[in-house]
Amino acid sequence: MPRPPDSKSIRGFRDIRPCRKCREPIFFATTAKNHRPIPLDAKPQKLVRVELGETIPGGTQRELIAHVEDAYTPHHATCPYADDFRQLKGKRSTNAKS
Ligand SMILES: [Zn+2]
Repeated sequence: MPRPPDSKSIRGFRDIRPCRKCREPIFFATTAKNHRPIPLDAKPQKLVRVELGETIPGGTQRELIAHVEDAYTPHHATCPYADDFRQLKGKRSTNAKS
C-alpha cells in the first residue's frame, strides 16, 4: 500500500495570512468534496486516524491501526466572527443548510 504523503510536506505550500476579521493566522485549502475554498487555522493539531487492519493471526478480530497525523481546524469553528462568514456564504449559495 502506498504511504500517504507526509502531512508536513504541505508546509511549503501554505499561504498563511491573517483572518480578515479576527487576525488569527489561517490558510485556505480546497475541499475534495465540492472544490470550495475552506479557511483553516494555521496551527495543526495531532489527531489519530484509525483504520481497519489485517485479521489478527489465529483470530477473527481485525486490528485497528492508529495513524498520528496533523489535522487542521476549520476556521469557522474558532473565529469569533464566524457568523459573518456564514452570512457571506448564504448570499452566494442557494442550498446552504440553516
Ligand atoms: Zn477569524
